[in-house]
Amino acid sequence: MLIVMQMDAEAEQIDAVVEVVEQRGLKAHPIVGAQRTAIGITGNIGIVEPALFQHMPGVLEVIQVSHPYKLVSREFHREDSVFEVAGVKIGGSELVVMAGPCSVESYEQTLGIARAIKASGAHMLRGGAFKPRSSPYSFQGLGREGLEILARVREETGLPVITEALDIDVLDEVVEFTDIVQIGARNMQNFTLLKRAGRCGRPVLLKRGMSATVTELLLAAEYIMDQGNTQVILCERGIRTFADHTRNTLDVAAFPAVKRISHLPIIADPSHAAGYRDKVLPLSLAALAAGADGLLVEVHDRPDQALSDGGQALLPDDFEELMTVLRSLAPVLARVLPEHATP
Ligand code: PEP
Ligand code: MN
Repeated sequence: MLIVMQMDAEAEQIDAVVEVVEQRGLKAHPIVGAQRTAIGITGNIGIVEPALFQHMPGVLEVIQVSHPYKLVSREFHREDSVFEVAGVKIGGSELVVMAGPCSVESYEQTLGIARAIKASGAHMLRGGAFKPRSSPYSFQGLGREGLEILARVREETGLPVITEALDIDVLDEVVEFTDIVQIGARNMQNFTLLKRAGRCGRPVLLKRGMSATVTELLLAAEYIMDQGNTQVILCERGIRTFADHTRNTLDVAAFPAVKRISHLPIIADPSHAAGYRDKVLPLSLAALAAGADGLLVEVHDRPDQALSDGGQALLPDDFEELMTVLRSLAPVLARVLPEHATP
């Protein structure tokens, strides 16, 4: 932390700041400039509370120099984190594609979509059993029945599964049935859920909150890692802006921004970013070109009858086209798109 003093700060005011620093067992390093003095602080573990100094006489501003996160940062772990989930590599040079319906609606629907996406080359099946809906009157998901359907379809197709844990009450049940636990955008700062997910023994896909900064996303991941879970996948799914031509705005710059700071893999959800099927393919390409490690895409065979998010769901043929384009794009980006992750 750096405390910048006002130009006319008096020597006693500088001394008073130094005294507060030293009272806390930290070291103060006054740097006397031509116009003003700044005081550097060292010896702190974690963040020093800025409020300690902000309102002291003679203080102009308090600047945070070090970052509030550690486990997620490249300073802690230089290389990209790469891990395997049920035979699927996440991170590193390989791209991962997770696809499926927004909601699990029935066994037949889920199996049909799973077969189609597998034939096109998807590596994992997505599908929500517990749905976070804006309205309490909208379809809330099949709950446990949905989890059981996912397990049966996993058995049938060999595709590993990712599904959302909506709260701590259902986390253990979800863990029983899924390969990756999804934490949704609305829960990105549900700290109780994050801590529990950090102890759940499964990899976690953490979606960026719709109004969260990259720093807040990384701090949310830090909560999970702090509990001992090193297998965290970040997901950029679009943020709220004034733009109304899409449901959310895919923050393409988030990929290089995260990669610069963090070793964690980050994938894109172009479906919730776009909100409209026709924009899913271009946003997928933009995300991968910007450094995303894969995609989480919604696919439905009868989107007009889908119980949630039909407008943004790709038809199986659209998904086939997306995978074909990805096969050409991957080598250009020096990435590998594995043919099939599961036997
Ligand atoms: C979803 O994946 O279906 C979902 C609800 O996503 P988000 O949390 O990003 O809105
Ligand atoms: Mn959805």
